[in-house]
Amino acid sequence: MEYRFSHRRYRLPFRAVVRTAHGPWAERDGAIVRVEDEAGRVGYGEAAPLPRFGTETIEEIDGVCRGLGGRITAQALAEVPARLGCLRHALGAAIGEWAEADGAAVAAEANETLTVSALLPAGRAVLEAVKPKLEIGFRTFKWKVGVGDPADEISLLDDLCAELPEGAKLRLDANGAWDRRKAERWLERCAERPVEFVEQPIAADARGSEDLLRGLAADFPVTLALDESLVGEGDVMRWLGLGWPGVYVLKLALVGDPAVTLARLAHAKAAVVFSSSLETAVGARTALRHAFAWKGARRALGYGVWPLFADRRFDGPAAAPFLRRSDLAQLDPEAIWTALD
Ligand code: MG
Repeated sequence: MEYRFSHRRYRLPFRAVVRTAHGPWAERDGAIVRVEDEAGRVGYGEAAPLPRFGTETIEEIDGVCRGLGGRITAQALAEVPARLGCLRHALGAAIGEWAEADGAAVAAEANETLTVSALLPAGRAVLEAVKPKLEIGFRTFKWKVGVGDPADEISLLDDLCAELPEGAKLRLDANGAWDRRKAERWLERCAERPVEFVEQPIAADARGSEDLLRGLAADFPVTLALDESLVGEGDVMRWLGLGWPGVYVLKLALVGDPAVTLARLAHAKAAVVFSSSLETAVGARTALRHAFAWKGARRALGYGVWPLFADRRFDGPAAAPFLRRSDLAQLDPEAIWTALD
């Protein structure tokens, strides 16, 4: 099968500067790829690299896309090196468009829903921020920790838990900010509190991080989750090989061909949380379609991110406590492709 191939780069300012462990982040670089088969069927995929996480850069993606020329076969995906996990994701998504759609159509129920987790700000602001989110129906929350003084943050944990109704769940995201001692203090405190999991307590690139993370997972009852440790297919395979007992927070856009990576995770019966890489609605649509098709336990989506871009045409639907399968129809890759012309 031969496809017509094209790609368009984007640089999109966020509505508000995103605070990250690596400093402020004002605009997102990426590319949309488009394939069209001989029958005129069109597939889209998004390459949304995060070089600060260790992915390839947009310049590398652009260079390889130019080198592919205007016509490709499915073999092109096999020829893109594993190191270019974001581009492999985009090609896999675009070429896989129909296979996925054909399978999904069988069991699709338009009113089927997945819950969405709400993002909460770091520090004391969390106590006010949680109230309106509870009011509109969110029950899973992700709170950024590891930003301020650990003692202050730990004391806020109980204040925050006191705001939560029965059945609500809290995810703590440390973004790798802790060392072993700080992590232990936190994990002790999380026991017997409504903490669904603690995300990336130790930095992915810290010395001995694999052993540290596995040790903490074995020593404390609270579930741990990997996020920054999962960049590229190789990382997913390595942690599966290590028998990681916790959650995989999957930024699907970063981990290569989505169908292949998810098949491996499903085979291992891994616990997966589908999570945003702050990509446009094109990449989000790929991830959410896979999330609706996922056969394992369905945890709340990490997609409470919209509105995100200064130009709303690139967003998905505004953050709500639930996403319906029918909401995916609002994610229109062709409109985004056209907007980039
Ligand atoms: Mg995270």
